Amino acid sequence: MIDSFLYQQPVKIRFGNGMISQLDDVLNEIEAEKCVLVSSKSFSEKCNKLIEENEKIKAVYSSVHPNPLLSDCEKIVELIKANGADTVIALGGGSSIDASKFAAACAYSEISPKEHYLSPAFPGKTAKIVAVPTTSGTGSEVTKVAVISHENEKKSIHNPAFMPDICIVDPELTLTVPPKSTMITGIDAFTHAIEAYWSVNHQPLTDLFAVESIRLILANLENAYKTGDIESRSNMSYASLLAGLAFSVAKTAASHACSFSISAYYHLPHGEACAFTLDSLMLLNNSERLESLSKAVGFENTADFAEKIRYFKKIAGLASKLSDLGENVDIETLAKEGANHPLMANNPVKLSEKQLYEMYEALQ
Ligand SMILES: [Zn+2]
Repeated sequence: MIDSFLYQQPVKIRFGNGMISQLDDVLNEIEAEKCVLVSSKSFSEKCNKLIEENEKIKAVYSSVHPNPLLSDCEKIVELIKANGADTVIALGGGSSIDASKFAAACAYSEISPKEHYLSPAFPGKTAKIVAVPTTSGTGSEVTKVAVISHENEKKSIHNPAFMPDICIVDPELTLTVPPKSTMITGIDAFTHAIEAYWSVNHQPLTDLFAVESIRLILANLENAYKTGDIESRSNMSYASLLAGLAFSVAKTAASHACSFSISAYYHLPHGEACAFTLDSLMLLNNSERLESLSKAVGFENTADFAEKIRYFKKIAGLASKLSDLGENVDIETLAKEGANHPLMANNPVKLSEKQLYEMYEALQ
């Protein structure tokens, strides 16, 4: 019998190769008049082309940091105000999309972005958001999550105001992502799907998206990493979107809870920080349900599935043991911050500081 559930997904999705060429239609569809384009430096050529083709784009911000800063959001808000813009087009990975989402939510506010950061509520009018992911990993194009850093704090903020109005998922935009970044972002999507599946908030539709995403990633990530052909890229874009749809409702859990401290202290990119603990957590979170999932996606058992995650990390040279993080890794702090992170409440098993300490200790 199916349990009762509530599923809501407000973002309109346009998916397909070459779909970015329909940006003009999309802007008309949401009645955008004046836009600020946000992107990373690596997409400056693409940005110039978009500006030539779309006279609605009035300003560009292309200096978003890899872990987006509050100062990036402040600059985007300044551009929105200076140009009287009504829409932010976020073209990039999770960093550009997250910074745009936060900036759009406080674009017309009486109070400063910093005050919003300290006390995240966005009751007033917001700018519209068109999210265009250029990596297959973040899922940010369909979620209400923005991860923004300020001083030494990295905050994962959840707010309905961050939901994009529309997203354009064009796999061709991911063709230029280098192999290592393809693995890191792909394994982030993998973590989203696995965590959405084992989250205490999972429900039938999120399970459906998560399992299909896991299946596609298992079938395509290695190829996307090694050859980067359009077929595996397209499947990875779709898998990342499905994982986003799954975790936007089910939320992530222990692996993401642990990843923030690993990224903050040892500077691993987000996906690599998630992958660092994912295989160990699979064993700690193991259950009959996880064993059935493992069998359903082609493994003998959960341990066999966890081995595949180690394989992905190995072929791409991602961090897999403590010495890869540096010397004298403070696992006491990692365990403490992981166990006390709010996302840990979504984990199917209540993991103590001691259990996480032992998990890290075993990664020699
Ligand atoms: Zn993630």
